[in-house]
Amino acid sequence: MNFIIEKDMLNIAQAPLVKSQFIIAHEAGNPNNTGEDSLANEISYMKRNWQHAFVSHWVGGGGRIVQIARTGYTQWGAGPKANPYAFAQVELARTRVGSTFQKDYAAYVWLLRQLAAEAGIPFILNSDQPTGIKTHSWISRNIGGTDHVDPDAYLARWGISMKEFKTDIEAPINDSSKPRYLLHLVVRGDTLWSLSQKNKTTVAALKKLNGLTSDLIITGQILKLRQI
Ligand SMILES: [Zn+2]
Repeated sequence: MNFIIEKDMLNIAQAPLVKSQFIIAHEAGNPNNTGEDSLANEISYMKRNWQHAFVSHWVGGGGRIVQIARTGYTQWGAGPKANPYAFAQVELARTRVGSTFQKDYAAYVWLLRQLAAEAGIPFILNSDQPTGIKTHSWISRNIGGTDHVDPDAYLARWGISMKEFKTDIEAPINDSSKPRYLLHLVVRGDTLWSLSQKNKTTVAALKKLNGLTSDLIITGQILKLRQI
């Protein structure tokens, strides 16, 4: 399964990393924000208060992913010792609905792996190695400079132990025989022609791939661009 990464970027300068070693997994930890708008609430709060803390991505709302800051540059999510080494940091907004959590969790695992792949960081959770995908709790125990212990308790509440989380993170990347596609969320101004040019394909190929009978595409539509 592939997910769309929406963008709602902070317009701020981020310091360069010292070194790209970690992807850090968080959870919002806010028991008072578990409703349908929890993702939007968390993002708007963080965007207003980024001087205190910010991460590169949020997950929530039933499998949505929103990027709010650049990867590969310092974010302020896991204390001064780890932040300059984290290529990306991912927050998970809370929900009280099981089916929403299941979709959020799938997107969360997918995104952590996707970001690790992008950064050339191994898909290994909380190992003794100085690189890999790390929970905020691991950073607190092993690197310091912060004392939060997320996302352990929130995942555990939904039946996901750290052992299970580790298994899900470390699963083989091509664990499915189903074809995977590079997807595109259609925005205003996109046409099949412009998308075909940008992606070195043809209008006819895009129509066939997406089962389209006309050249009409609409904002918000998700198109397959090519098999990956
Ligand atoms: Zn955290």
